[in-house]
Amino acid sequence: MHTTALVLFSGGQDSSTCLAHALTHYQRVETLAFDYGQRHAVELEARLAVREAIVQRFPAWADKLGQDHLLDSSVLGQISETSLTRDTAIAMESSGLPNTFVPGRNLLFLTLAAALAYRRGLQVVVTGVCETDFSGYPDCRDDTMKAMQVALSLGMDRRLLIDTPLMWIDKAQTWQLAQDLGQQADANGGGKALVDLIVEHSHTCYLGNRSLRHPWGYGCGTCPACELRASGHARWQAQH
Ligand code: ZN
Repeated sequence: MHTTALVLFSGGQDSSTCLAHALTHYQRVETLAFDYGQRHAVELEARLAVREAIVQRFPAWADKLGQDHLLDSSVLGQISETSLTRDTAIAMESSGLPNTFVPGRNLLFLTLAAALAYRRGLQVVVTGVCETDFSGYPDCRDDTMKAMQVALSLGMDRRLLIDTPLMWIDKAQTWQLAQDLGQQADANGGGKALVDLIVEHSHTCYLGNRSLRHPWGYGCGTCPACELRASGHARWQAQH
């Protein structure tokens, strides 16, 4: 029986939904983010705002939510040439991958997460990777996750589960999942409360824009991350 989890929690829509998923399914939950010289500290601030809002609104979850961890992984800056770490525009490259892609980044993150989980006595690593929307990222695919689960479990000689609640759902379904999880936690308006909380406090925009407010949250509205979030929200709204 798995009862404890570490959530890879960047403060975006996906990882905020993963946090709600973890708080629903596990008894003790800790959060982890990586600071690798992103251009926008805004993302790291959003994480704390989401955590705080969850604690305020969902007392049952507050009791389960434990320590937050921030690991310096600035070494990635030394091996990447991307718009996440340098001032270049986000674009698609001839490989079909966006230039935000850092080769093996997620493999490194999972390895660090597994090592931390081991130290903290946590049995599960929860991550918001998804094949549906960003199928271009090979280190987010289901096969990669399964291989990592095996490699990390063998390499640390302790069974580790990698839980990927968003793997086969799209961004519209991710909004629905948040609504369902919130409702499950609190039948008295919890669904809407969790969606509102994610809209208000989570951050997805690549450009770090927090000045423009849309029905789906803050962001520039035109970068690939904003477009994905906006279109998912619009499709989800249309179904209601
Ligand atoms: Zn944006």
